[in-house]
Amino acid sequence: MIKVPDPEVYRAAAALLHQGEVVAFPTETVYGLGADATNDRAAARIFETKGRPSFNPLIVHFEDLAAADQEVDVNSRAEALAEAFWPGPLTLVLPRRPESRISLLCSAGLPTLAVRVPRHEIGQNLLRTAQRPLAAPSANASGKISPTSAAHVAASLGNRVPMILDGGDCEVGLESTVVDLSGVQPVVLRPGGITREQLEAVLGPIAEAGADSDIKSPGMLTSHYAPALPIRLNAREVGQSEALLAFGPNPIEGAAVTKNLSPDGDLGEAAARLFGLLHLLDKETVEAIAVMPLPEVGLGIAINDRLRRAAAPRAHTKER
Ligand code: AMP
Ligand code: MG
Repeated sequence: MIKVPDPEVYRAAAALLHQGEVVAFPTETVYGLGADATNDRAAARIFETKGRPSFNPLIVHFEDLAAADQEVDVNSRAEALAEAFWPGPLTLVLPRRPESRISLLCSAGLPTLAVRVPRHEIGQNLLRTAQRPLAAPSANASGKISPTSAAHVAASLGNRVPMILDGGDCEVGLESTVVDLSGVQPVVLRPGGITREQLEAVLGPIAEAGADSDIKSPGMLTSHYAPALPIRLNAREVGQSEALLAFGPNPIEGAAVTKNLSPDGDLGEAAARLFGLLHLLDKETVEAIAVMPLPEVGLGIAINDRLRRAAAPRAHTKER
């Protein structure tokens, strides 16, 4: 459904977001598929709607710098870039605050969060009306081209999204530039709407993320969220020295401690709880985390992808 925004429409969109639904909206870069970033189920819904086969971290959109500052540690470089380019097509990767309310799914289990303040009037009005930070990747089916008009969104996801706010064609039409400011040196993770020259005018020279650099976009790494404990997949039995990450109504018995991703076998619930429960079990004094098999369908594909990465050899993760 496509509507031309007026105050009534914003209120209806906010109500959907508060219910955990997704709403597509224009930003100056591309159309975003927005969901309440503080709601695990809503964040899971984004992956479900896009049919994403893996949980990449999501950019979270805020009304202004002050709102973002509640969730991430805004260091001096971030402040300078925000001052220069926000609102605008720039995303900053910053350390999460321990007290952050943002779903761990938006961080894909990382200690960082990507934050952005968009300048498009419709995105701004939606953020202000909803009074929630909005997780919003591009509003296209996974693997397809980013949408720069409401018609693109409708063609790609029309029957899966309850509301598409139509703001005409996007001004920039290119994704936001993503800069990682969580490490010692700033790193451009994705080129986009703000150029390297523009960034360097504020920060000074930025080192290239060279081929032998440890710092890469975490979504690209085989193992980017590695719990401290070894992970054992497809567990059909479990020992007393293991913690069990169960799924479904019949968890196997005998583990030192068991947490169930979804006793009902609901993959949306499992996705929403995945990172929180992995963090929790990782604190147990056990030898390993055993994970029951999950079906390789729908969100199960993304969950299994993430679990395989969590279980992968740890050679790639020394920067974390
Ligand atoms: P999209 O989902 O199309 O908006 O793309 C999001 C981009 O931001 C991807 O390239 C992600 O790898 C990157 N990104 C989001 N969150 C983080 C994070 N916490 N750390 C590093 N990169 C991130
Ligand atoms: Mg995208």
